[in-house]
Amino acid sequence: MQDIRNKVKVIAFDADDTLWDNQSYYDDAEKIFCSVLADYADSEAVSSALLRTETRNMQELGYGAKAFTLSMIETALELSGGRISGDKLGQILDAGKAVLKMSCCPLPGVREALEEIKASGKYEMVLFTKGDLLDQRNKLVRSGLEEYFGHVGIVADKTVKEYWELCGRMGVDAGELVMVGNSFRSDIEPVLKIGGFGIHVPFERTWQHEVVEEYDHERLFRVASFAEIPGFLL
Ligand SMILES: [Mg+2]
Repeated sequence: MQDIRNKVKVIAFDADDTLWDNQSYYDDAEKIFCSVLADYADSEAVSSALLRTETRNMQELGYGAKAFTLSMIETALELSGGRISGDKLGQILDAGKAVLKMSCCPLPGVREALEEIKASGKYEMVLFTKGDLLDQRNKLVRSGLEEYFGHVGIVADKTVKEYWELCGRMGVDAGELVMVGNSFRSDIEPVLKIGGFGIHVPFERTWQHEVVEEYDHERLFRVASFAEIPGFLL
C-alpha cells in the first residue's frame, strides 16, 4: 500500500451513494413498480425484466431517473402485453418522478470530512458523477455541498476515457488523482487502470448493474465510512 499524501493533487468524489443516499430511492420506486405490476408477474420477475430493459437502453438513455422511468414504462408495456391501464402507467410515472426529488441529505460524517479536507488546502476537490445533467446538478444544490467543490464534472458514464479526460481537464497525471466512491465498477476500477488511486467506500445497497468482482490493489484503499477519509489524506 502506497502513501498517497505526497503524490495526489486532485481528489475526485463520486456523488450518489457516496455523499448522499441515492439507491434506496430507486429501490423504493422499484417496489412501487413491482406492486403496480403484481397482476402480470411476481416482483422477482418484474425486477429482472426491468434490469434487462435498463441494460438494453443504456447505450441510448444512459443513467439516471429519466432513463429509469422510461425503462419502467417500457417494461410495464412488455409484461402486460400492452394492456396496462393509463391509471397504472400514471402510478409508475409518479414513482419515477419521485426519484427526481430525493432529499440528498449528506450521509453521516460527509460534510465534516469535506470541511476538514478543504480547510487543509492541500488538494483540489472535484465532484465527478455520471447521469442526467440537470438531475445531478439539482441533487448537488439540494445537498448543500456545492461550496466544497472547485470543479463539477457530470458525464454520461465513468470509464477509463472519462477519467483520462478529467486528468486532462485538471492538468494532472493519473498518479496525482484519487477517486473516492462507492462503486467498484465506476469509481475504482477505471481509475486503477489508468494509474490513479482509489478510495472505496461501499454503500449498504448497490444497484445490480454496478456489481463487479472486487480485488485488492496497491493503489486501492478501503474504508468503512466517509469519516475515515481525512485520515488517509491529511
Ligand atoms: Mg455512486
